[in-house]
Amino acid sequence: MTAKRIVVAGGAGYIGSHVCVELLQAGRKALVIDNFANSSPVALDRVREIAGGNVELLRADLADPADAERIVSAVTAFRPDGAIHLAGLKAVGESVAEPVRYYAVNLPATFTLIRALEAAGARLLVFSSSATVYGDLNKSPVDETGALGPTNPYGRTKLFIEEMLRDLARADKRWKICNLRYFNPVGAHASGKIGEDPNGLPNNLFPFIAQVAVGRLPKLKVFGADYPTRDGSGVRDYIHVVDLAAGHVAAIDYLAKEASPGAVEFNLGTGRGVSVFEAIAAFKRASNRDIPFEVTARRDGDIAEIYARPDKAEKLLGWRATRTIENMCADHWRWQSANPNGYRDE
Ligand code: UDP
Repeated sequence: MTAKRIVVAGGAGYIGSHVCVELLQAGRKALVIDNFANSSPVALDRVREIAGGNVELLRADLADPADAERIVSAVTAFRPDGAIHLAGLKAVGESVAEPVRYYAVNLPATFTLIRALEAAGARLLVFSSSATVYGDLNKSPVDETGALGPTNPYGRTKLFIEEMLRDLARADKRWKICNLRYFNPVGAHASGKIGEDPNGLPNNLFPFIAQVAVGRLPKLKVFGADYPTRDGSGVRDYIHVVDLAAGHVAAIDYLAKEASPGAVEFNLGTGRGVSVFEAIAAFKRASNRDIPFEVTARRDGDIAEIYARPDKAEKLLGWRATRTIENMCADHWRWQSANPNGYRDE
C-alpha cells in the first residue's frame, strides 16, 4: 500500500517546503497546515512552480485551541493516509529565554494533529525530531541507541514529543510512527526558488554565512576555536535539505508497508562531520565571495562535535544522503543570491 494523501503540518517552512516538493514529485497529494509564524505563503507558490499543483493549504494555528475544530474538520475532509509533522518553534536560544512558550506551542500543536489524525482514521505519522535530543552525552558517530539528554528547552520539547509518540504506539498498535532525528539541514532546492528565510538575525551557521556572503551582514562570529576538534571549531553533520526531504518520503513509504512497526527512530545525517572553518572555506569557494569572520567566545550550550551514524536509515528506509558539502554550499548560495531578502520581495 502507498500512502498517497499526506498532511504536512508546517509545510510552508524551510524543511516543510522541500518535503512538499519531494512528496509531489513522488506523485503524492499534500494538505499543508501552516500559520506562517516563521514562513511565507510565497514558499508554497514556489513549491507549485517547481512540482505542480497537488498541494492544498489550510491557514491555521495547530497550537491555538480556537483553530482546533477547523483543523480536525479539514484534515478529516482531506481523507489523509498519514501526516508529516514539522510545525513548531525551533530557535534554541529563544527557547532558553522563553521556555514556557516553547512547551505551550510545540506540545499542544502535536496533540491537535494527533486528534485530527485519529478523527480521520489515519494513524501514520512522521515527526520532525532533532539530533539535539542526544545532547552532549555521546561520542560521535552517534546511533539511535545513543543516550538522550537535550541541553535546552527546544530539544526537550522534541524529546517529550518523541516519548509521547512512543507511548502512543505502545498503547495503540494501529499507530505507525517515525521520529526523524535531523542533524544540521542546510542548502536549498537546486532551482534556487525555495530555501531558508529566517526572521531577523539568523541563529544558525549557514544562513549567517550566506547573509555575510551576499553583503547583508558584515561579519561572521565563529563561536569558539578552542574545542577539542581537528581545527578547534565546532563540528556538525550538515545535511542537504533535499536529501533530508527525501528521507521523509522514504519514512512514509516504510510506515505504509510495515504491518506493525510501532514507533521507530532514525538519524537523518550524512555520517560526516564538518568544522565551522571548513564550512566557511567551502562556502567561499561556492560563492566566490569573501566571508569575513572573527573568532569569539563559545556560545552557551554548544557542544564540540556531533555527527550521525546513519546506517539504520539506509538499512530500513533504503535512504541515504548523497549530496556533498560543495552541493550544499552551491545550492544555498544560488537561493541566497537570487533571493537576497528571502521571500520578502514578493
Ligand atoms: N556557529 C558559529 N557562528 C554562528 C552560528 C553558529 O560559529 O553565527 C557554529 C556553532 O557554534 C556550531 C556550528 O556553527 O559549532 C553549527 O551551529 P548551528 O547553530 O548552525 O547548529 P547547532 O548548534 O544547532 O548544531
